[in-house]
Amino acid sequence: MRIMILGPPGSGKGTCSKIIEEIYKIPVITTGDMLREAVSKESPLGIIAKTYMEKGELVPDDLVNKLVKERISEKDSVKGFILDGYPRSIKQAQVLEEMLAEMGKKLDHVINVVLEDEAIITRLSLRRSCPKCGAIYHLINKPPKKQGLCDLCNTKIVQREDDKEEVIKHRLEVYWEKTQPLIDWYEKRVKVKKIRGDIDINILPKVIKEIIES
Ligand code: ADP
Ligand code: ZN
Repeated sequence: MRIMILGPPGSGKGTCSKIIEEIYKIPVITTGDMLREAVSKESPLGIIAKTYMEKGELVPDDLVNKLVKERISEKDSVKGFILDGYPRSIKQAQVLEEMLAEMGKKLDHVINVVLEDEAIITRLSLRRSCPKCGAIYHLINKPPKKQGLCDLCNTKIVQREDDKEEVIKHRLEVYWEKTQPLIDWYEKRVKVKKIRGDIDINILPKVIKEIIES
């Protein structure tokens, strides 16, 4: 099963993806995480990507497309995958369509996770994460047990550079300009299913299962 999760930054795409991964045992392909890993390793891709990411701009299509192409060709992607944060532009969507056609595959579900900009800004500015293990916290809704330290590995949790308020606002502008038009693009091709990004996390698995299996 191949699933695509669309939606603005901070809407809850990652949370939905992890739930789907757990239910259906297919890997999540998160371009944001892959790029952050490249940045932390200071690989040639990472050095370029960093300059875009810290400003909240999109990393150039060609670089991201190549990354995804390699990833979906790996063995664990054969039975399916969840795309989280990709595509983010019409160009990326076109390239993805070609990649899938070459593999004789298609998307089974496109899910759009929606949330208003104000809610996103509040949510992301309170988000903290563990630089070591990737665990995500929220200073009000999901604070770590020991203040400032990761529950899982005791590392000092940090705010992502691009979760600072000015950068969040810019990421949202980029979303509305470059990524939101994808919703129409996909609606012409498949049924795009909408889900709110602030549904209670306890009922989210059930809602997602219903959406996918309906
Ligand atoms: P969010 O969805 O919360 O903005 P991500 O972790 O998905 O966060 O992405 C962080 C940054 O990584 C983006 O602002 C962008 O610079 C870069 N990025 C991630 N995915 C893509 C993509 N598909 N195309 C271009 N840039 C991307
Ligand atoms: Zn940790």
